[in-house]
Amino acid sequence: MEPFRIKAVEPIPFPSRAQRRRALQDAGFNLFRVPAAAITIDLLTDSGTSAMSAAQWAALMVGDESYAGARSYQRFEQVVRELTGYAEVIPVHQGRAAERILLGRLLRPGDLSVSNTHFDTTRASVEAAGARAVDLPAEAVGPVAFGGDLSVPALRDLLTGPDGGSVRCVVVTVTNNAGGGQPVSLGNVVAVRELCDRHGVTLLLDASRFAENAYLITERDPAQAGRPPRDVAREVFALADGCWASLKKDGIANIGGLIALRDADLARRCRDQLIAVEGFPTYGGLAGRDLEALAQGLLEVTDPDYLRYRAQTTRWFGDRLADAGLPVLQPTGCHAVYVDAAALLPHVPPHRLPATALANELYLAGAVRVSELGTLVFGRPDPDGGDDLPAPRELVRFALPRRVYTKSHLEYVVETAAEVVAKATEIPGYRVVEQTGPLRHFTAVLAPGEPGGPAALPGRPAPDPTSPPRAPH
Ligand SMILES: *Cc1c(COP(=O)(O)O)cnc(C)c1O
Repeated sequence: MEPFRIKAVEPIPFPSRAQRRRALQDAGFNLFRVPAAAITIDLLTDSGTSAMSAAQWAALMVGDESYAGARSYQRFEQVVRELTGYAEVIPVHQGRAAERILLGRLLRPGDLSVSNTHFDTTRASVEAAGARAVDLPAEAVGPVAFGGDLSVPALRDLLTGPDGGSVRCVVVTVTNNAGGGQPVSLGNVVAVRELCDRHGVTLLLDASRFAENAYLITERDPAQAGRPPRDVAREVFALADGCWASLKKDGIANIGGLIALRDADLARRCRDQLIAVEGFPTYGGLAGRDLEALAQGLLEVTDPDYLRYRAQTTRWFGDRLADAGLPVLQPTGCHAVYVDAAALLPHVPPHRLPATALANELYLAGAVRVSELGTLVFGRPDPDGGDDLPAPRELVRFALPRRVYTKSHLEYVVETAAEVVAKATEIPGYRVVEQTGPLRHFTAVLAPGEPGGPAALPGRPAPDPTSPPRAPH
């Protein structure tokens, strides 16, 4: 059960079926464009959506808003040093700012950055530095305990091969979000450390979900069972040369990020850039009160009772969604349940966006918002104007904000999912009618059904035929 009781509440909207249809249509059938006022249960992301504790709300009040040398920075620095063991602590407003600043100082054109999986904003920062991002996830055959591991043989081959001299850093993302939120094992980080030492390569952590990774290590590695998750997290940090994190995840706060390093010279160069783009080094784009809430959140997030609740809730939710008939990816991690939309909707081909189709149907059925991680996000428009090039998988992610929804909220989602499963064969595909850039999914306008075919929503007007698909660019 939840290891907390509730002392502040926020009403949630219950739009009618007609209001849901209208909201989705007005949003161009893209859930990113649906106003939150039309959402009952919002599982779009676990980023920046956490509920703060009473201690965090109280900490806001003691926030020191001094421009330079604020007490709140000192508290934040002390908590991060104690957790990570890194002396140099640099606050930033969110994870991508940390990536842009740190990777921009570390990487040179032609360098390689190697990872179990670069998160999409990480990849963008590697490429902005003129370097290349190489993903080497360990090949998982069936469900494995540590599906987030980096492939040690592939890293060894790369480092000893002709491109070995170009590898500037290895980034271990814990947990591996892009790979389904699966944890990285302690043994994997040890093995990667050895290779980095042998070849003189910097080892960094993308530590956005460091606490969830540490907890899953204690759960899935018998040799680590019973250890306090904070000890395990410290051991993982100790293996690397530094880290960055989006604190919108395991900071259990609504904004924030950090860079933490051993290398004082690299930290100095990061601070020079920080002053140019984020702010003075003792606030880095945050308010003093944010630093207080983050310091407190970083203490709370390794509480074993909290982490056990988090992992058990996600597992329970995944099992119930599977009982309802959704093809759930197993094992579940902590921050989300992933569902294979292609398996549920075999009649919808990849270029008709099966993951979008499932996500939109969950919205229509119960104003539940989830995110699509399929061809809309990871596919690409065909340069020759044909069907979209498909993503490797058509996944839908049910992300779980921290400490926000109770079991009965999630039961409602399961009931909604069961309704959608019952009419799976009737669920229509979608096509893109307007899109821009590589992050098209945030703003794309879609329409249901085949081009020129019947409108997918009975009783609604067909999509406007005067807005033809825009030429890809
Ligand atoms: C969210 C996230 C980021 C980017 O952080 P933002 O705070 O969204 O800018 C980077 N890496 C991982 C693994 C993330 O989950």
